[in-house]
Amino acid sequence: MIADNLSRVRTRLAQACAQAGRDAGAVTLLAVSKTFGADAVVQAYAAGQTAFGENYIQEAVDKIAALAHLPLEWHCIGPIQSNKTRLVAEHFDWVHTVERLKIAQRLSEQRPPQLAPLQVCIQVNVDGGATKSGVAPAEALTLAHAVAALPRLRLRGLMCIPEPAPDFVAACAVFARAKALFDAINEAGVRLDTLSMGMSNDLEAAVASGSTLVRVGSAIFGARSYPATAT
Ligand SMILES: *Cc1c(COP(=O)(O)O)cnc(C)c1O
Repeated sequence: MIADNLSRVRTRLAQACAQAGRDAGAVTLLAVSKTFGADAVVQAYAAGQTAFGENYIQEAVDKIAALAHLPLEWHCIGPIQSNKTRLVAEHFDWVHTVERLKIAQRLSEQRPPQLAPLQVCIQVNVDGGATKSGVAPAEALTLAHAVAALPRLRLRGLMCIPEPAPDFVAACAVFARAKALFDAINEAGVRLDTLSMGMSNDLEAAVASGSTLVRVGSAIFGARSYPATAT
């Protein structure tokens, strides 16, 4: 079932790329395995998937340890408290949810020297919810400059999680703001190559708007039996 779901998601991605006039390989698929066990990850791996996203740090660390024999790439896509930075720095390949310099500094200091630099995206609050995670768009460039200077991090791009939009056009309008910010930061001289946006229900709109990485959970693994994001 996971293999079938994955192949449906890959087809959707390929169609979305074709529709947008983009290369089929222009968008990376991140399989969001949060709340699912190591067995589900193994099934997805058997179907050719190697990049996985996790929200809950301790759950992820257990899964990463259980699957250490497989060549998998792990992305942290959940909120990071200061007391969890060490676990993240020691176990993940990527972090999409950097929104404060202090957290970025801790991740850089705690990244073990024998590992490659931690690949990071800055999370941006593109639709402006007052209580939402992510840096305000107006502050993204300043944070990008500061993060790019940290020795053990490698700044790759921006990430956003907009509220579900009523339709395709509305979703594109919000994703377009993230793309404009991504372009502006690149033009300001901070090189970014990753725009992490789009999930199971809005990946077509995200791809049409310039996403380079979609984070897809339920369309691959099925419905989750506990909440999607830690609050
Ligand atoms: C859970 C989650 C996803 C995947 O959501 P689906 O709707 O299941 O595809 C993507 N990104 C983040 C940050 C998430 O927390």
